[in-house]
Amino acid sequence: METKILYIDEKNIDKSVIEEAGAVIRHGGLVAFPTETVYGLGANALDGAAVKKIFEAKGRPQDNPLIVHISDFDELAPLVAEVPEIARKLMDRFWPGPMTIIFKKSLIIPDETSAGLESVGVRMPSNLVARALIKAAGVPVAAPSANISGRPSPTEVGSCIEDLSGKVDIIIGGEKCEVGVESSIIDVTDYPPCILRPGGVTLEMFRTVDENIYIDPSILNKSGADFKPKAPGMKYRHYAPKAPVRIVQGEPEKVIALINEMVQNYINEGKRVGIIATDETKDRYENGIVVSLGSRSDMDRITRNLFETLRSFDDKDVSLILSEAFEEKGKGIAVMNRLKKAAGFDIIKA
Ligand code: AMP
Ligand code: MG
Repeated sequence: METKILYIDEKNIDKSVIEEAGAVIRHGGLVAFPTETVYGLGANALDGAAVKKIFEAKGRPQDNPLIVHISDFDELAPLVAEVPEIARKLMDRFWPGPMTIIFKKSLIIPDETSAGLESVGVRMPSNLVARALIKAAGVPVAAPSANISGRPSPTEVGSCIEDLSGKVDIIIGGEKCEVGVESSIIDVTDYPPCILRPGGVTLEMFRTVDENIYIDPSILNKSGADFKPKAPGMKYRHYAPKAPVRIVQGEPEKVIALINEMVQNYINEGKRVGIIATDETKDRYENGIVVSLGSRSDMDRITRNLFETLRSFDDKDVSLILSEAFEEKGKGIAVMNRLKKAAGFDIIKA
């Protein structure tokens, strides 16, 4: 398949591009597009055959449901069986934005979209290109991240092209994604609501709406063999660059010393190592291919840079990637969740 790549300026949206891409989605095709979280790969959420193409293009496991994207509040009602009061409060506060809500689904959601579950995840993005596209499609848009399954999600169009060129009808190129990790997912089918995936809307922010909101314990810790995930996506290895990732956690000085020592051992064996560092530490590493995510005082920036940094090591021929750890509060919870999944929960205490 030949993939058309169309660039768009969020501040001056070209209507003809949006109309063309919207028609492709409406008629059962696939369009990759920018959102504020990561790039999404969209299809008509109400068309099971179209949704199936997403799974094929990504190589995504069939039992991993998709999030349905809407462009306005009034598009929610037909998709869900009920809207609990707490969901209304959350929507008022965080939509449009990086929050997905899990509802009991209505009958119009095909099994392909919900992967056979009785629930459906819905999100209204804030990115104007994304919303214009959904509006032009005239249908709700099922969209997972626009990457080959298992790889870090794309936050720049180049990564999207790398993974999906030749497999989808259109890729819309926009700006680098503002948040840089996937949406926070909150399940309101039970009370109190449970956070199934940390993201741009943090636990602290959720608790200003209802202090009983809690994080699913499996987000922070490695789960056992008998683990039954509430979000099917929780059980898959994710965000993985080609080389294995290990996280080094502890006091900063000890972390730097241990990383330097480990890198030296690899170099002695003629191997290259990547280091995910911060502005505060990047000059302290003697060897290795060092990439800084940004300053620890700016967790927004660190979050935004994480996935492209993980991807950047794929063409650097490294045998291992060592990453510093981050404090698990605010956006640090989302960053550590992605890093731990990339590392398969391989954490070394310095
Ligand atoms: P992605 O679109 O790649 O960001 O993945 C979507 C994530 O949302 C996966 O982790 C899914 O398991 C999760 N998800 C989507 N729909 C549901 C649902 N109905 N219930 C629980 N988790 C869901
Ligand atoms: Mg994904």
